[in-house]
Amino acid sequence: MVDLTKFVRRRAHEVRIAECVIGGTHPIAVQSMTNTPTADVARSVEQTRCIADAGAPIVRLTAQGKREGEALKPIVETLRGEGYKTAIVADIHFTPDVAMIAAEAVDKVRINPGNFRTTNGELERLVAICRRRGVALRIGVNHGSLAKRIFDEWGDTPEGMVASAMEFLRMCRDIDFSDVVVSMKSSNTRVMVHAYRLLVEAMDAEGMTYPLHLGVTEAGDGIEGRIKSAVGIGALLADGLGDTLRVSLTENPENEVPVGRTLVDYFARRDGEFEVLHPERYSPTCYKPRSSAAPVIHSEITDEYVVVDATSGNPTAEWRAAILNRDDSRPVVIRRRYDIADKELVAIYAAADMGQLLIDGLASGVWVDAPQLSDAELCDIELMILQAARVRFSRTEYIACPSCGRTLYDIQSTLATIKSRTSHLKDLKIGVMGCIVNGPGEMADADYGYVGSSPEHITLYRGREIVERNIHQSEALDHLIEIIKRDGRWQEPK
Ligand code: SF4
Repeated sequence: MVDLTKFVRRRAHEVRIAECVIGGTHPIAVQSMTNTPTADVARSVEQTRCIADAGAPIVRLTAQGKREGEALKPIVETLRGEGYKTAIVADIHFTPDVAMIAAEAVDKVRINPGNFRTTNGELERLVAICRRRGVALRIGVNHGSLAKRIFDEWGDTPEGMVASAMEFLRMCRDIDFSDVVVSMKSSNTRVMVHAYRLLVEAMDAEGMTYPLHLGVTEAGDGIEGRIKSAVGIGALLADGLGDTLRVSLTENPENEVPVGRTLVDYFARRDGEFEVLHPERYSPTCYKPRSSAAPVIHSEITDEYVVVDATSGNPTAEWRAAILNRDDSRPVVIRRRYDIADKELVAIYAAADMGQLLIDGLASGVWVDAPQLSDAELCDIELMILQAARVRFSRTEYIACPSCGRTLYDIQSTLATIKSRTSHLKDLKIGVMGCIVNGPGEMADADYGYVGSSPEHITLYRGREIVERNIHQSEALDHLIEIIKRDGRWQEPK
């Protein structure tokens, strides 16, 4: 087993989710989520099995309504009957009553404080069931779906996310319920990293030690989705934060598990003990790049930059010290050599190593030195790392949901088609979301949205405004392109 004591982790208290215990010195648990309709028990059991067989000790299923909530019991019973001990989690967004039904069947319930009231005893009723059955709770805050009263006071900000989480955590503390996990997800890696760090500060100030569930939402697919997740999750793992994580990809859910495992194992391999909570990360400037130098990749480096070779040493501690203590005032390009031929692994490792430095404003460029990959592949990876850390946008950004039991169309093939026709556009963010219930909120700051509104029908958005409602999927992409053209934001492919 990988020795996780090698780097200094934030010490969270233990929470048991069926046979999986997270927090304390337990390994970081990798989890995933089904995308089958939960009411279809047979298909949901089959996919849960598939995710569990890929190595996830925790699997989440959506329960958007009573029918789905009631399907959880036979799903859990079937899996247990087959000998699967996988912890089963119900994902609740809008209907507190379904949370009560789900809590009678599963091992953990995730609620979104944006949609759960604090004043009518709903949380207390849910906790009473959880306490009786030994069920854990996740307070799952999502950037983009904050409660109106929180939004009105704080806006859609990391501070608002923290206020939302702390309100629920205090309630749990006051009723002496500690089997609680908390998450602060966003598709924007800077918002997400900042929100988790602020939350830890707020919890520390009140002596709270709830374990953290890490994740970047709507990361997309392929190398791009892996890089985006590695930048956000990697920055927090480098801080010593995180007790369980999910890499959200718009792919088959079992594909998420090896990516999560790669990240956990990569950080666990870092040598030596070192302090990972660096005070400079919490300075007011850490949220924005400190250098005004244009972020570069290896082929663009000039004398205006200084290259810090970081092939040896610990990316979290030693590179950071080398950058902060250098005499040269020029902006830093961070370079690391990777003697690996696997493009996906190089991309994940480099994003995890370099993303944190870009997010903290300590580096202004990246040089992924992997001689076994072609120059074009390396440029591609480097540009994607800069984009994932949101310091340079060189291609269309897709905020694509991973899909779940609420998804109303085939999101994987649709995303591939949308990409094939729009990926050449610059400075554009397109949200591709499976359902209209959560999609519009969760596509955050997308310029355009392609959102499932009924089976095989799509509603198109410009920002937060609906432009066309419920058009058939066969026509939706053409309509979206027409809207982009009308707005003067279309460029013909070269
Ligand atoms: S936006 Fe996607 S992942 Fe989120 S609830 Fe809707 S279909 Fe599921």
